[in-house]
Amino acid sequence: MRSMPFEGLSREAIAAELDRRSDGDADWAAGRVPLFVFLGDQEAYEVGRDAYFRYFTENALGSQRAFSSLKSMEEEVCEMGLSLFRAPAGAVGNMTSGGSESIFLAVRAAREFARRQGLARGRGNIVMCETGHPAFTKAALCMDLEERRLPARADGRADPKALAGAIDEETVMILGSAPCFPYGVIDPIEELGELALRTRKWLHVDACVGGYIAPFARDIGYPVAAFDLGVPGVNSLSADLHKFGFCPKPASTVFFSDEARASAASFDLSWPSGRYVTKTLVGTRPGGAVAGAWATFNFLGIEGYRRVARRLMDLRDRYMAGIQALPGWELVAKPDLSVMAFRAADLDMGQVAQAMRDRGWVPGMVAKPMGLHLMLSMLHEVSLQDYLSDLREISDSLRRDTGAVRPGIAEVRY
Ligand SMILES: *Cc1c(COP(=O)(O)O)cnc(C)c1O
Repeated sequence: MRSMPFEGLSREAIAAELDRRSDGDADWAAGRVPLFVFLGDQEAYEVGRDAYFRYFTENALGSQRAFSSLKSMEEEVCEMGLSLFRAPAGAVGNMTSGGSESIFLAVRAAREFARRQGLARGRGNIVMCETGHPAFTKAALCMDLEERRLPARADGRADPKALAGAIDEETVMILGSAPCFPYGVIDPIEELGELALRTRKWLHVDACVGGYIAPFARDIGYPVAAFDLGVPGVNSLSADLHKFGFCPKPASTVFFSDEARASAASFDLSWPSGRYVTKTLVGTRPGGAVAGAWATFNFLGIEGYRRVARRLMDLRDRYMAGIQALPGWELVAKPDLSVMAFRAADLDMGQVAQAMRDRGWVPGMVAKPMGLHLMLSMLHEVSLQDYLSDLREISDSLRRDTGAVRPGIAEVRY
């Protein structure tokens, strides 16, 4: 087993070793990684990064007692989010360290609220489409809730009728995604809102992946169905700053339609050190994430985000057109934003993915149906032509040598 070096390495040796190790990583800067990393605008990226390092030491857990600058920045980020998502008066937001944490808090709040109000009996369950993010499963497992996943419609969206059939007196939450990660399509949130109002259930909208770009894509003329806190029946919404908000990791937001629901998510605890009050699951939080989000919002502004949305949606259109022009390839669903899945029915998608990997790509994949997946940001502008030509060459060559079956990627692992 390795122990720490007795004598520490020099700064130069550490830096050299980091360089050496990252040489073996996938080349995200060249657009070879279709998920995990995001870029909207180079200058905004640098502004966010500078703000992050400016607040590298400060801890957002201490924003009440020590760092009022972080408190004011967090409040402003949340207010800007509330306004972007057309929140009703009295709605509340808070920053978290990621989409999964935002989702945990929303699920806990829904369960807690149902208990307090006597709205649900028994163990409790979440009713959702199969395309809902695994973070809901994690939350359900940790809070001993039952999870009911229903099949998506042919267009990849949640089926309100199927969901309605699964709701009962134990249901504490209905989920809609905007968009869902696998196919990049926005669920029919208005219909789900009606369902939630009719059944008096909590509707959560998971806008983690697309939340911060969708309003701007709509502003510049793309059809984006209503999905936000302005839709009647929506009680909470999660949206990740560190995805298409283009803010430094780790940063997300979660919003509640009113104070009573928000308070069901927060913690007010006592121990020998006194009262311990947090709105988050985690304690210590990077001050840099708060400052980075504040700086990115203020640097880009509405106009900057629209500019990014225009470039990104244009890039998405070029990828879509290129993929659909490849013989045999088709989209699994028509994407609403820049997340998409596609496949060729006559090819083994595992073999295609393996061949893409052999050429230095990290192949994004979906499992149902087996296909390729892209979550495009401006990092993927430089790689567009290479991606399409590699996909074409691989498809052609797999169709040619039908005899030699090489092992492909058998299982899709995130
Ligand atoms: C990424 C994502 C999450 C989880 O967010 P993390 O920041 O990775 O924890 C939840 N829902 C959707 C739709 C996502 O794309």
